[in-house]
Amino acid sequence: MHELSLCENIVVSIEEAALTEGFNIVTAVYIGIGQLSCVEPAALRFCFDPATSGSIARNAQLFITVYPGLAKCKQCGASLEIENYYDACSCCESFDLDITGGEEMQIESLEVA
Ligand SMILES: [Zn+2]
Repeated sequence: MHELSLCENIVVSIEEAALTEGFNIVTAVYIGIGQLSCVEPAALRFCFDPATSGSIARNAQLFITVYPGLAKCKQCGASLEIENYYDACSCCESFDLDITGGEEMQIESLEVA
């Protein structure tokens, strides 16, 4: 499952950060998800507990922020928020869009003890 391996990657990143920054317990994990990243927040939440069990983030709370997809229309130059890759420009209805944001998923911050 896609989200489970994402959660496992998150745990790996957290444990690497723990080694370099010298903390032992993570109490909260803040994750940002772009709307175009194909990551389901609910599925990520579902996988988070099993993925973190036995890790230093096992008791951490998960906070997810979803960011809109961002695009710039190549036809009329409008900057817009989109929900899907196949959305059209809301100004001129062109499908010729440059995706400028909302494709990534990242750990934004950790609360550590
Ligand atoms: Zn346009």
